[in-house]
Amino acid sequence: MTKHTEYDYVIVGSGLFGAVFAHQAGLANKKCMVVERRPHVGGNVYTENISGINVHKYGAHIFHTGDREVWNYVNGLNDFIPYNHYVMANYRGEVYNLPFNMNTFYRLWGTKTPDEAQKILANQISEYADTEPSNLEEQALKLAGKDIYEKLIKGYTEKQWGRKASELPTFIIKRLPLRYTFSNNYYNDRYTGIPSGGYTRMIEKMIARADVVTDVNFNNNRKMYENIAKNIVYTGMIDEYFDYCYGALEYRSLRFETELLDTDNFQGCAVMNYTDFETPYTRIIEHKHFELGSVQPQTVITREYPEKLDKSKEAYYPVNDERNNRLFERYRQKALSLKNVIFGGRLADYAYYDMDKVIRNALDISRTLIFDKL
Ligand code: UDP
Repeated sequence: MTKHTEYDYVIVGSGLFGAVFAHQAGLANKKCMVVERRPHVGGNVYTENISGINVHKYGAHIFHTGDREVWNYVNGLNDFIPYNHYVMANYRGEVYNLPFNMNTFYRLWGTKTPDEAQKILANQISEYADTEPSNLEEQALKLAGKDIYEKLIKGYTEKQWGRKASELPTFIIKRLPLRYTFSNNYYNDRYTGIPSGGYTRMIEKMIARADVVTDVNFNNNRKMYENIAKNIVYTGMIDEYFDYCYGALEYRSLRFETELLDTDNFQGCAVMNYTDFETPYTRIIEHKHFELGSVQPQTVITREYPEKLDKSKEAYYPVNDERNNRLFERYRQKALSLKNVIFGGRLADYAYYDMDKVIRNALDISRTLIFDKL
C-alpha cells in the first residue's frame, strides 16, 4: 500500500501521557492526531461537571509531586487549587485517620505520645522481627502489627486485589508509612493541588493543537492510521497492541456507582476508605471536598468496587507479580524491535504510575524524540 503520510504523530489514547506528548509535539509544530476509544478525552483523569461539582469519573485523582518542573509545567497550563489530602478509614463503624499516625494510634490505643505508641507497636511486631515475610500478610504484620493489620489493612487489601492477603506478594505494601506525628496529610510531596475547572479542562488545553477523534478503537483501524502516520504513540494496553500473542497481562478493574444527593455534606471528607471485608466497596469519594470552598447545595458521591478485569471493563491496577512482570518483559522486548512506534503511560508500561510520573516520562520522551531532532 502506498503511504499517505498526513500526521507526524498519531497518538493512541488521550490520557496524561498522550495529552502531554500531543502538547509538546504541538509546540514544535508537529502535526498530531489523537485517537481515543472512549466517548471523551482524558483517560482516567477525566472529570465531568455534575451540578457544579467536578466529578472524578474514574476514581480520586489528587495531583501531588516533588518534581518542581512537572509542577511548573501543569501550573503553566491551568490554575491549581491548593488541596491537602486527608483520608479517613471506616472499620465496622469506627473511624480512623490515615495514613497511620498519632491520631490513628490515639483512637486505637489511647496513646498520647510517640513514646507510648512506639512501645505498643514494638510489642506487637516483636514476634515477627526475625521472620522474612513471604506474603503481604506477614509483611504487614511485621511492619504495622496485629491491630493495624486487622482493622486497617487486611479487609481493604483483600477486596482491592481479590485475593487473600496471605496469597498476595509483599511488594504491594513494602512502603507502609507509620508516622509518629499528628499529621494526617496523606502525601509527603512538596506540591499538591487539583486543577481548577477539573482535569478535563487541563487535558483539553494540552491537545488543543491536535486533531482529535473519540469513540474510535485504533486497533480496529490500525492499517488506516499506520498509513497516515509517520509515527505512532501508543498508550493503550501493550498486550492488546500485540493481539495478546504471549497471553493476557493481569489487571484489577473497578466499578463506580455515582449518586447525586440532596445534602450539602455527606461524609465531611473527600475519601472515606471502608477497611472491613464485609462492606463490598473499598471507598466512598465525595467529590466537592476536592475543591476548597465548594458551596453547592447538593453533593455527588461515588462508591468504588474492585473487580476482575474482562473485555467490557477498563484496566486500572497492573498486577505486578513475578509472572506478569515476566510476561510484560516479553512484550516490552517486542515493542523495542518496532520502528516508529513509541509506547508510554501506565497501560503500555504495565506500571502503576502516579500522575506526575506519567507527565515526567512524557516530557522526557517527547523532548528526546521531537526537540532533540529539530
Ligand atoms: N491500603 C490499606 N488500607 C487502606 C488503604 C490502603 O491496606 O485503607 C493498602 C492496600 O494494600 C492498597 C495499598 O495500600 O492496595 C495502596 O492503596 P492506596 O489507596 O494508597 O492506592 P490507590 O488505589 O489510591 O492508588
